[in-house]
Amino acid sequence: MKLRVVVLGAGFGGLELSTILSEALSDRLDLTLIDKNDSFFFGFSKLDVMFGRKPPETVQFPYSAIDKPGVRFRQETITAIDPERRAVTTDQGTYEADVLVVALGADYDLEATPGLREGGNEFYSFAGAERLREVLPNFTKGRAIIGVTSTPFKCPPAPSEAALLLHDHLSARGVRGACEISLVIPFDAPIPPSPAASHALLSAFAERRITFVPNRTVRALDPNRRVVILDDTSEIAYDLFLGIPKHRVPDVVATSDMTEDGWIPVDPKTLKTRFPNVYAVGDVTSVGTPLAGVFSEGAAKVVAAELIANVKGGEPPPPYSGRGSCYAEFGQGKVGRIHVDFLSGPTPTGSFEGPSAALANDKQSFASSRRKRWFGL
Ligand SMILES: Cc1cc2nc3c(=O)[nH]c(=O)nc-3n(C[C@H](O)[C@H](O)[C@H](O)COP(=O)(O)OP(=O)(O)OC[C@H]3O[C@@H](n4cnc5c(N)ncnc54)[C@H](O)[C@@H]3O)c2cc1C
Repeated sequence: MKLRVVVLGAGFGGLELSTILSEALSDRLDLTLIDKNDSFFFGFSKLDVMFGRKPPETVQFPYSAIDKPGVRFRQETITAIDPERRAVTTDQGTYEADVLVVALGADYDLEATPGLREGGNEFYSFAGAERLREVLPNFTKGRAIIGVTSTPFKCPPAPSEAALLLHDHLSARGVRGACEISLVIPFDAPIPPSPAASHALLSAFAERRITFVPNRTVRALDPNRRVVILDDTSEIAYDLFLGIPKHRVPDVVATSDMTEDGWIPVDPKTLKTRFPNVYAVGDVTSVGTPLAGVFSEGAAKVVAAELIANVKGGEPPPPYSGRGSCYAEFGQGKVGRIHVDFLSGPTPTGSFEGPSAALANDKQSFASSRRKRWFGL
């Protein structure tokens, strides 16, 4: 008997899970991996795309390249999930599974921030990053604001990275002196669990005249008056707004009876949902780690280890650690690395390396190792 697994979403979590199960179970595995897109891209590629550092087509890896024993990829849009029956409906058919893993990530709700769609930009979707690629070269003077509209949001360093890379972009074009850059963040420091990373980022902002606005979110934009309105009702004038939109689970998850307070609750040690043999990993959950690919990957490893132990026998895996390392672009060719631990102690802790050119190379290796492992490219 083969283990029938259906994995919903081929992002960091879904790809890593499918890869490990294929390696370990191969002919004992019957895994269907479903995603609505035809290709994968790393979240951080959006920064490369928006600042014109890489053409969009070079950062996308086609799912058609997946060639793994026991794994079949389907490009279909999931329209319903029945966790009781472990059944899934898509725009092209239905699937039933022994084990269902939901790895559908987080979507964006632009309408939650009045004025954002009409008067601002966002760089969290691929389409938004592609649009900014056209917008940024026309920004020659005035006030740029990078602003977070709500929590949680993916990759907590990303707004800081965008501010530092915007500084480089404007400097390279010789217009930095005519522009102001402000960063609005809902925390008292750029990376609260890592004082060292926060200190390095705050120093980098000060050196580059980037204004840091802590403990605030952007509640709305008034495109007519060209102001952003913060959660304390204060206002900041802007000419260019780069927003981090409100995050939410995809519609198909919201209507699935799996969520509580907007996200899928899971046992933080095992990633089990309250439905037997239904797991959820990554950004779609409220597991308590940041919304970042490395954490989705770490959670997928735990689920994979448990399923392998179930098939092959052996000890159950150690619980999910909630540890991960994220890269942070500092601009000028340098990258820092933040190690964070969210689940082992009473409060999250973190340490920091860099920034350095050597870590920029490490980040390249991080991406190329996943590309090779998941796609064979
Ligand atoms: C600007 C930016 C920079 C980032 N930088 C980093 C970084 O440096 N390091 C890092 O670790 N993380 C980074 N991230 C975050 C990272 O991209 C996400 O946290 C990660 O992709 C989450 O993985 P996941 O598997 O949970 O979900 P995802 O990777 O989002 O995968 C979910 C998949 O589900 C699919 N899907 C959704 N709904 C449906 C449906 N109805 N039917 C079919 N398929 C569907 C989607 O197409 C998607 O492929 C960054 C994000 C952004 C926006």
